[in-house]
Amino acid sequence: MNAVCLQSKQAKDLAVITPEIPEPGPGEIRLKVEAVGICGSDVSAALGKPNFDWVERPRILGHEFSATIDACGPGVSGWEKGQAVCALAIHSCHECDNCRAGNTQICEDRKIIGFHMSGAMADYVCVPERYVMPLRYGLSFIEGALVEPLAVASRCVLKMCDIQPGHSVIVSGCGIIGLLCALLARASGGNVIITGAEWDEDVRLKKARDLGFRTMVVSDDNPLADQIEEKVDRFIEASGAPPALAASSDSVKWGGLIGIIATYGANIDWAITEVVRREQKVHPCMAAAWDDFEAAMRHLRDGVIPVDELVETFPLTEAIEAFRASFEKTTPKAIMIPQ
Ligand SMILES: [Zn+2]
Ligand SMILES: [Zn+2]
Repeated sequence: MNAVCLQSKQAKDLAVITPEIPEPGPGEIRLKVEAVGICGSDVSAALGKPNFDWVERPRILGHEFSATIDACGPGVSGWEKGQAVCALAIHSCHECDNCRAGNTQICEDRKIIGFHMSGAMADYVCVPERYVMPLRYGLSFIEGALVEPLAVASRCVLKMCDIQPGHSVIVSGCGIIGLLCALLARASGGNVIITGAEWDEDVRLKKARDLGFRTMVVSDDNPLADQIEEKVDRFIEASGAPPALAASSDSVKWGGLIGIIATYGANIDWAITEVVRREQKVHPCMAAAWDDFEAAMRHLRDGVIPVDELVETFPLTEAIEAFRASFEKTTPKAIMIPQ
C-alpha cells in the first residue's frame, strides 16, 4: 500500500512509502482510508518545529480521516464491511478522572494516531474498535475528513468560549482552524472579525472575506487594538503567532474571554498582570473528545460549514504536492484521497 511518512527531524523530509497492509490485532479494526486531511500540526511536525519534536520519526502521519470498515480483528464484531466511519484522534487510558469525565483529550496517557503510532495517511490503518465511530447523517468522505478539525473548533467555540448571540468575536488567525472557529462563532450568533498577517492578504484573508467575514491585517506597525472600534467579548487565538497572543488582552473587554486553540513554537512574553487587572478569562482548548466529534457531524449535517469552499483534494500518491500547498498556505485544507 501507499503511505505518507515523516522520515526524520529535518524540515520537509516526507516520502510516499509502500509498507505492507497492516493486520488488525485483537480488538482492532482495519479501516480502508477514504479521505485524510493535512492538519496544521502535521505541517508543523513536517517543518521540524520545536512544539512537535516529540514526534518520533519515521512516522506515518494522519489523524483527520474518514474510512470504511475493511476487516475486524479477533474479538471485534457488529461492524459491516464497507460501513462508513471516522475515528477519534486521541487514544486514552479510560481510567483516569479526565477520561471518566469524558475529557479523553486531556488524559495524561493520551496517544495521538499519526504522531504516537501509525496514522491514516495510508491506504489502510488499524484502529482499536473503541475509537471508531459511524460517520452519521450520510456525510460524504470529504466531510468525514473534516470531522476531527471541526470537532476541535467546536470544542473551543461552543464549550470553552460560550459564544452567545450578539457577542463580538475576533478570531486571530485565518488557517483552517481559524476559519472553522469563525464559521461556528457566526452560527452561534457572534459578530466575527478574522485577522491575519500581511502575507495572508491574497489567499487566506481573501477566503475569509469570500465567506462573508470582515478581516483585518495585523502587524507590529498596525496593532489590532488600534484598528477595532470597540473591544470584543471573545478573542480566539488560532494563529500560533506569539505576538498575537501577547497582544490579545488589549483587544478584549474587561471581563471578556480569550480562548487559545493554537500551540506556539516559542515561549511568549505576555503581560499577564494586565489580564489579571482586567479579570479577563483565559481558556486553553486542546483537541476534542467523542461528544465534540458528534457535535461536528451535526454541524456538517446542518450545513454550517461550506465544505467545498474550504477543501482542495489531492491523490494520496501526490502527498508531497499536497504538503507543499499546505506549507505555502495556498489552500485552506488539503485532503488526500487514497486510490
Ligand atoms: Zn489535527
Ligand atoms: Zn485517562
